[in-house]
Amino acid sequence: MKQLDVAAEKLGLTPGVIAKLKQPNQIHEFDIPITKDDGSQKSFHGFRVQFNNARGPYKGGIRYHPQVDLDEVKALAFWMAIKCAVVDIPMGGGKGGIEVNPKDLSVGELERLSRGWVQKIYEHIGPKIDVPAPDVNTTPQIMDWMADEYAKLTNDSTRATFTGKPLGKGGSEGREAATGQGGFYILDEVAKKLSLDPGQTRVIVQGIGNVGYHFAQLARQGSYKIVGLSDSKGGIYNPNGLDPDEVMRVKKEKGSVIDVEGAEKVGSLAILTKECDILVPAALENQITADNAARINAKVVLEMANGPTTPEADKILHDKGVLVVPDVLSNAGGVTVSYFEWEQNLKNEHWTEAEVLAKLEPIMRNAFGSIWKTHEEYQVDLRTAAFMLAVQRIVAV
Ligand code: NAD
Repeated sequence: MKQLDVAAEKLGLTPGVIAKLKQPNQIHEFDIPITKDDGSQKSFHGFRVQFNNARGPYKGGIRYHPQVDLDEVKALAFWMAIKCAVVDIPMGGGKGGIEVNPKDLSVGELERLSRGWVQKIYEHIGPKIDVPAPDVNTTPQIMDWMADEYAKLTNDSTRATFTGKPLGKGGSEGREAATGQGGFYILDEVAKKLSLDPGQTRVIVQGIGNVGYHFAQLARQGSYKIVGLSDSKGGIYNPNGLDPDEVMRVKKEKGSVIDVEGAEKVGSLAILTKECDILVPAALENQITADNAARINAKVVLEMANGPTTPEADKILHDKGVLVVPDVLSNAGGVTVSYFEWEQNLKNEHWTEAEVLAKLEPIMRNAFGSIWKTHEEYQVDLRTAAFMLAVQRIVAV
């Protein structure tokens, strides 16, 4: 909301318009009772926040986490509205969740809970209304159960109400690598603007999960030098370069990137302050903070995780002259391919991976171009520029 205030002030929006932007359209909160495997009953608290649909159906994930709460879901729903507007796809912002630790449930219990969420909300979601997706701890299998339950309750067989479904069950080619792929197009645009030669450009990626791994792999294929990689157990640094595939092979075999031989071992936070040209936080939120921002040793921070930089750190980086490329742009490849999945389902089509990438690339590059233009025109950082562009697009409808 602070980010919105800054953008709104630059755009000269009236207090009435700002107040409307800050207010979610609908909040759904409900209890989901399920029968456990031992026959006992247990109830879980579920949410769906439908924040803004000015530009199209609400879009956003469903999070399963013991600490999910309404404030968090509201903030994430707002963020989705901004992200969809940044990449100019006809979707709004929504988010959902269930207060649960899925590891405490059997597969059958998880299925009943997921179907239960749909039974509570199905009248308020749908292909033209609200299109949920996976988020923390929710998987393609869960989306498949949910799409199936929705079809049973409504007779809608398009499967377009949920995205992130498995391939063969209405999922899209290219979804798994989409976020990393989108981030790679943004990296390429940044390199062009700063006249960086990929062969001489050192990259550190914090978090070698779905997003970080695909990003690192594509960057290496693009001749960038990956000098640091990390996971939750720690990081490794080698100024001569690392091969993400080899690192992943060792991680799968031995448990962590720190088991890779021939590289310096560093802590999971220490990796952030090692020397490089492009630092890519791709793990968790709030990693670059007032405590370590002054020691960041990079020209560019490309945010692939959601919210990896705190507002205090953002200011420190800006004052130091570090270019921060914001999450709402860099990691929007994921939601863009989710939107493609929805479109394929509605049209009863199945696009090849090449077709998906051919559509993703111009969307990401155009979004970067528009944000860069706003950044130059208004002399604002890229995050403010991204919010300005998104807010302008939302209020223009
Ligand atoms: P993931 O669970 O696949 O991977 C997370 C990685 O971070 C793992 O390798 C884990 O070991 C590592 N990690 C955890 N704690 C760490 C720490 N303290 N230091 C270093 N590494 C640590 O998750 P993901 O899907 O790759 O998502 C990563 C980030 O990207 C999240 O912020 C997520 O919200 C965001 N994001 C993901 C997508 C997507 O399509 N998956 C889209 C947009 C944004």
